[in-house]
Amino acid sequence: MTKTICIRNAAWIIGWSEAQDDHVYLRDGDVAWTGDRLVQVGGRYEGTVDTEIDGRTRLVMPGLIDIHCHPTQTPIYRGFVEEFGDPRLFFNGRQDFRQSFVQDEPAMRASARYGLAEMAAAGITTIVDLSHAYPGWLDILDESGLRVWVAPMFRSARWWASTGQETRYDWSEDMGAAAFAEACEVMDAAESHPNGRFSAMVAPAQIDTCTTELLQQAIALAAETGRTLFTHGAQSYPEFNQMARLHDKSPVAYMDEIGFLGERTIIGHAVFTDEHPWLLWKTREDLDLLAKSGTTIAHCPTIFVRDGTLLHHIGAYMDAGVNVAIGTDTHPQNMLEEIRAAELLARAAAGPRHTSNTARLFRAATAGAAKVLGRDDIGRLAPGAKADLVTFDLDHPQMHPMRDPLRTIVHQAAERAIDNVYVDGEIVVAQGQPTRIDWREAAEALTREQARIAGKAGDIDAIIPLALAYGS
Ligand SMILES: [Zn+2]
Repeated sequence: MTKTICIRNAAWIIGWSEAQDDHVYLRDGDVAWTGDRLVQVGGRYEGTVDTEIDGRTRLVMPGLIDIHCHPTQTPIYRGFVEEFGDPRLFFNGRQDFRQSFVQDEPAMRASARYGLAEMAAAGITTIVDLSHAYPGWLDILDESGLRVWVAPMFRSARWWASTGQETRYDWSEDMGAAAFAEACEVMDAAESHPNGRFSAMVAPAQIDTCTTELLQQAIALAAETGRTLFTHGAQSYPEFNQMARLHDKSPVAYMDEIGFLGERTIIGHAVFTDEHPWLLWKTREDLDLLAKSGTTIAHCPTIFVRDGTLLHHIGAYMDAGVNVAIGTDTHPQNMLEEIRAAELLARAAAGPRHTSNTARLFRAATAGAAKVLGRDDIGRLAPGAKADLVTFDLDHPQMHPMRDPLRTIVHQAAERAIDNVYVDGEIVVAQGQPTRIDWREAAEALTREQARIAGKAGDIDAIIPLALAYGS
């Protein structure tokens, strides 16, 4: 028997209004679900209830959608990548670190388990996991309880920097054919997984590391299967130069030319469009190409600003009609902090001309992401939608005073006041603690694995010095 759970008399609900086509505040109402689907959002639920939860000191909001994350990498990079881009590579790449700190499969698994628990605790209920396929991947995702778009990355080349002055491309003999075949197997396995929470995404890794032929195979597969298509593109100054040199086009114009853009396409990160003031480029058409094609960009501001890079500016993208979604891409994998960073950095980039705000960016992190995933039943709280939701404890000091819940969450409390998180109506975080993965145990394993890989990485402290010297 499917059970009905009801959060009774929730003080605040961030519900979805069909009429207003947006999130709206609701006061003093019920949020009820039967099995994995919401049956009531706001007002009074009169049906039979199996479990009742007191909502009088709770806020209920839709689970966040992290459109771009790399769980196998980002947690284990902590302490290494926060401050050290290579100045001779426009602060991009950190090739010295990545060429030394090479993860094996146990290290990837430890990083992923930690990262998935971290995301659940931060109110993230859906993720796009961009990883190179590894054994045990789907088992770890299943353990997490999260809803996942499994996006196995494949490519024809990897980046290489031998002189530290130039990004080079080490092309594989088969130009990515084996990686593509492996990714296809993983995508099929994800879609046929019995948990019902997995979908697949076609993910050629980067626009500059894939041959046009490989990208066209990816486009064809996405069209044939109805899967969303993803790549990293227009993401760095060196990459823009590489694409301009090869194709005499901006990366976005190249993607348009080969048919990569579209309503089910995500570009991470489209920072270096031809609008970017640091580029001396002849056209001003990229935002239009993105908007007219219905393409979504995955905006992940924190990792860029670490290198001193700023997208100019996210409000202008939205004003042009580009669909925007938000991702974490790096640590901390905290969408609420990422929304805040997106808003503040848009103001830094645009000054008084900025046009982004908290509501627009929250929408990007929920309904905006759902759109490109082809779903209208996640990223919103409405009857019939999935019961993917987050509750906040309004008694938490960080939630006071409670004039405006969304601003309080994004600009002050972030995940600190989260008590429960549900995916498909099932609890994955209780009283702030992940219930599926033992986060403390995962943290200890992550520490062990980071130390083990760093131990094989030569003099890693010379490549990435500590923030402070040891005292003598
Ligand atoms: Zn990325």
